[in-house]
Amino acid sequence: MTQPLPSQNFDLHNHSIASDGLLAPRDLIALAAENGCDAIALTDHDTTDGLAEAGQTARELALRFIPGVEISVTWPGLEQDDLRDLKPVTVHIVGLGIDPVHPLLAAGLASIRDGRVERARRISADFDRIGIQDLFDDAYALAENKTMLGRTHFARAMVQRGLVTNVGKAFERYLTAGRPGYVPHRWSRLEEAVLWINAAGGVAVIAHPGRYRLQSDDMRTLLAQFKDAGGRAIEVVTGSHQTRHFREYAVLAKEFGLLASRGSDYHGPSESPYRPGTLPPLPAGLTPVWSLL
Ligand code: AMP
Ligand code: MN
Ligand code: MN
Ligand code: MN
Repeated sequence: MTQPLPSQNFDLHNHSIASDGLLAPRDLIALAAENGCDAIALTDHDTTDGLAEAGQTARELALRFIPGVEISVTWPGLEQDDLRDLKPVTVHIVGLGIDPVHPLLAAGLASIRDGRVERARRISADFDRIGIQDLFDDAYALAENKTMLGRTHFARAMVQRGLVTNVGKAFERYLTAGRPGYVPHRWSRLEEAVLWINAAGGVAVIAHPGRYRLQSDDMRTLLAQFKDAGGRAIEVVTGSHQTRHFREYAVLAKEFGLLASRGSDYHGPSESPYRPGTLPPLPAGLTPVWSLL
């Protein structure tokens, strides 16, 4: 049994072409092995399609593999009257060590994917209004997994058309709340995402909390609800955080008794600040989520 040392090079958040990453699952795993990872998780958005190939490659390379997923959630849910003054935000919940064929999880993920193509049509219609025509077709062509069409594919389509110089700029100017190309969408509820992950034998992790732009008391409400629902960990060190978030969320992990996770949120070359396995280690004094894996 491996000791759960905080200094171990576990990278527990990565994407492949099964969702909005740029590498095939086998190439992602090979890269993680090259970079000296002790363990790697594939956590595609709302799908487990890449896990079989990733697991197979990891076995061939004798690299420890953690099957995962990243579930899209809208929080607060519609039924939460006490929070009705809070504008709903999209929150991502990573599931680690899941059984990808568990029926409850599989059905839940399928229900989320169902809305994606229709949402993409609405995004495209919003772009039409500002004179950027037929972006749906370009984004659709760029999505390897058509059921997983998302904003990243639109961002890449904009780069391809020369409308912006990189994906980050596409999100800065378009595709985010209040800007053209953004349409509100209702994903799953926090409690159900955590339930599906737990039912499938996994550990639920709040992904990149530093990205949600929540006031401090709203963040605490989110973490409390997540914990009540059965969530057990929080990402502290991730490529989707600024460095100052590492310390900030280390404090909240301790305050809420949550285990700490570390994951690059790698999407592909030139789209992510850290390649798999190259993040700083977890801050001292935290219990790594891999103590449970
Ligand atoms: P979707 O699930 O289709 O709404 O797409 C969400 C994905 O968009 C995230 O998982 C990121 O990969 C990407 N994304 C969101 N915000 C940004 C940003 N500011 N810069 C780069 N990528 C982003
Ligand atoms: Mn993504
Ligand atoms: Mn995410
Ligand atoms: Mn991610």
